[in-house]
Amino acid sequence: MKQGLFCVFCIIVMVWVSGCQPATAVSITHPSATPTAVATVPPTATSTSTSSATLPPPPTFTAVPSSTPTAIPSATATIAATATAVPSPTPTSACDLRIPGDALDTVVTLQYGISRDYAPADLVSLNDYLPYRVTQGYPIEIRQPVVEPLVQMIEDMEAAGLHPEVLSGYRSYSAQSIAWAKWNEKNPETAAIVSAPPGHSEHQLGTTLDFGSPELPDLVGEEDIEFHTYFYMTSEGQWLLAHAHEYGFTLSYPREAFELTGFYYEPWHYRYIGVELATTLHEQGLAFTAYQLANFPEPCIP
Ligand SMILES: [Zn+2]
Repeated sequence: MKQGLFCVFCIIVMVWVSGCQPATAVSITHPSATPTAVATVPPTATSTSTSSATLPPPPTFTAVPSSTPTAIPSATATIAATATAVPSPTPTSACDLRIPGDALDTVVTLQYGISRDYAPADLVSLNDYLPYRVTQGYPIEIRQPVVEPLVQMIEDMEAAGLHPEVLSGYRSYSAQSIAWAKWNEKNPETAAIVSAPPGHSEHQLGTTLDFGSPELPDLVGEEDIEFHTYFYMTSEGQWLLAHAHEYGFTLSYPREAFELTGFYYEPWHYRYIGVELATTLHEQGLAFTAYQLANFPEPCIP
């Protein structure tokens, strides 16, 4: 099966339409080791009612065939080798040295990173809990505490007639390094905007997931697309927006949270934080990062 890319850090290719209007399209095929994708243009505010298009203007991503699949040893080697030639992903602040505990509320943004040495100790294979039709065959790992609520949510979605897909879960520091290095090679000017440096991805926490929908290809007009802003218009995307909090999941990067998270709108990216907090955020219309920065102490503790 094809090897792909991931969401946030998936490969993306910016496309500019004449007149300087950002055209966007995201297509991503992904698998395990080589994410790449980047949102192109700052997703503008919500409304759009001008042109003939019925669909809002989203960022576009183009899948980049990756040549480095599963093998982590070799992947790591590649990274190490490339690291020097690319804008350095090395720690830039005390935050990048943080090693979070098992709590579900670790702050991870473009500003606040975590150590390259951190990897959850309770990762399990999601493929042991969800059928192929949901994982699409991708090897996916998540932390144990996320399994039960996720499986319950998927079952309820299917019972409601939906066809949810889980396309990505835990991503190691090494895997993120690879994605970051590749993006910098392709487009260094925008790498910091559209991709995440290693240590700054919530996927490293093991509590974050990227969802997919079989409706996306038709909506976007690209057969192999897996991640696109239009996900919010799919039946699965809309259901998640309305119900994910009931299972403890929250949308990490809503349109309005860019200033705080440093990341553009990602309607497919959900993080598990527990039902109580997720529900509070949902009721208050608050992004998790906004809540964290307002209620938690400065995360950069050496
Ligand atoms: Zn994601």
